[in-house]
Amino acid sequence: MSRVPRVLVVEDEQDIAALIKHALERSGDAQVDVVSSGDTALRAVRDTAPDLVILDINLPVISGTEVCRIMRGNAETAQTPIIMLTARTSESDRVAGLDLGADDYVTKPFSLRELSARVRAVLRRRKSTHEIPTALFQGRHLRADFDAVAISIDNEPIRLTRREFELLKFLIENRNRVLSRDRLLERVWGYDRNVETRSVDVHVGRLRAKLGPAGPQIETIIGLGYRFVE
Ligand code: CA
Repeated sequence: MSRVPRVLVVEDEQDIAALIKHALERSGDAQVDVVSSGDTALRAVRDTAPDLVILDINLPVISGTEVCRIMRGNAETAQTPIIMLTARTSESDRVAGLDLGADDYVTKPFSLRELSARVRAVLRRRKSTHEIPTALFQGRHLRADFDAVAISIDNEPIRLTRREFELLKFLIENRNRVLSRDRLLERVWGYDRNVETRSVDVHVGRLRAKLGPAGPQIETIIGLGYRFVE
């Protein structure tokens, strides 16, 4: 990305919006537009095609979760990265946001440094997913060639079940992102509603054990789900 990325901040609390704009523009990370309601956000997204949307949950007219849902359902905005701003006390908001396909969330009150770091990470990830094929992952211990269905730890091949393989693939494709149990269930198990969310925990446990020294790269995010960290 040679040009400065464009970030759309959707927040009706003007002080917070102004602080975010100031912080991101001062550091040179982004050029920031601000809107203060869900409906103007949807218009702005359509008109200006931002590189990233920072989206508050509590908004007038249309809520942040609804904006996220509409954006993900529209082909033009389905891939636009979204960072949700959520209340610290509302776990259900965070889960809803991630389930709807938000890339990350920051809980209020947040530090501007933390938010700036998340913004940089999401923009970097967006750039890298455009450039690097995801079929091959090479970490310190783990090498995963998903096309060849060949997984090895410290150059020793390991055997995974089909489910474990799909689970690892989805986690790595979405690395550094928190994935809820429901999302993992839906993607790895399909829509079989007889499967309980607890079986996700069981499979993650087995997968971690098989990954040995790379196992801790699958982090448990208490109350939310799992994240594969690089
Ligand atoms: Ca708000």
